[in-house]
Amino acid sequence: MRVLILGGTSEARRLAEQLARDERFDAMLSFAGRTASVADPGVPYRVGGFGGVDGLCEHLRREGYHALVDATHPFAAQMSRHAAHAAERLALPLARLEEPPWQPVPGDRWLEVASMTEAAAALGPTPRRVLSSVGRLELAAFAAAPWHDYLVRAVDPFEPPLPRARVIAARGPFRLEDERALLERERIEVLVSKNSGTRSTYAKIVAARQLGIPVIMVRRPSVPVVASMSSVPEALAWLEAVHGASRTWRGV
Ligand code: NAP
Repeated sequence: MRVLILGGTSEARRLAEQLARDERFDAMLSFAGRTASVADPGVPYRVGGFGGVDGLCEHLRREGYHALVDATHPFAAQMSRHAAHAAERLALPLARLEEPPWQPVPGDRWLEVASMTEAAAALGPTPRRVLSSVGRLELAAFAAAPWHDYLVRAVDPFEPPLPRARVIAARGPFRLEDERALLERERIEVLVSKNSGTRSTYAKIVAARQLGIPVIMVRRPSVPVVASMSSVPEALAWLEAVHGASRTWRGV
């Protein structure tokens, strides 16, 4: 059974690794190609956009895929919308694999906001030392609050579009002691984060809690409702069910 996995997360990679070991499946992991280098996932993969919903439909048809797993980052909403529309148009089984959002626990000082624009406004009029992990493209919204000192963490280095910003290039997972050390060394006063729910980047939230640092937490964008799995084993079980239910690729 041919499966296209829309990637960009560690869950996508882990699912692809599992399927590569399972002879019932022939899986392809897809990356947008946003980062300068795609670390070889050790499984079949492709890189680059499809060309909107039409391009994705054409790709799925041409390559003969039988199922689609949307394991993109929760903030990659456009790709998720395209996947939902394409799956509907082609009547293709689609599931979404994503970790549930983080929930505040006692000790957390979160301010939840709906957008980057709201996050920038929530920093307030007084200059603050900010650690941002929201991503290169989303940083433009913070040009509305240029008086803060931004420490921006991103996978690849880039020239920040803000006058008082520095970029540190790093790829998770991050360890709690390193996150604490970073917050203390840089005298960070507030953290801005997307609610990705990603385990490998949660340490900064714990570190902020331990140090009493407030977090401006950007809520996830809404995406179409489709079958949803929160772990790789669940996604695998869903694929097994799809495999069992269809006779097309077994020639039965
Ligand atoms: P997006 O806004 O939802 O997607 C923009 C376009 O990029 C899509 O329309 C599609 O182009 C292409 N694309 C996205 N994901 C793709 C994939 N897995 N395979 C092939 N093409 C893909 O996405 P984004 O927020 O720019 O994120 C891009 C990628 O980075 C995603 O794969 C995501 O999982 C990963 N990522 C995103 C974030 C984040 O915060 N947004 C964080 C970590 C990782 P076409 O329309 O041409 O098909």
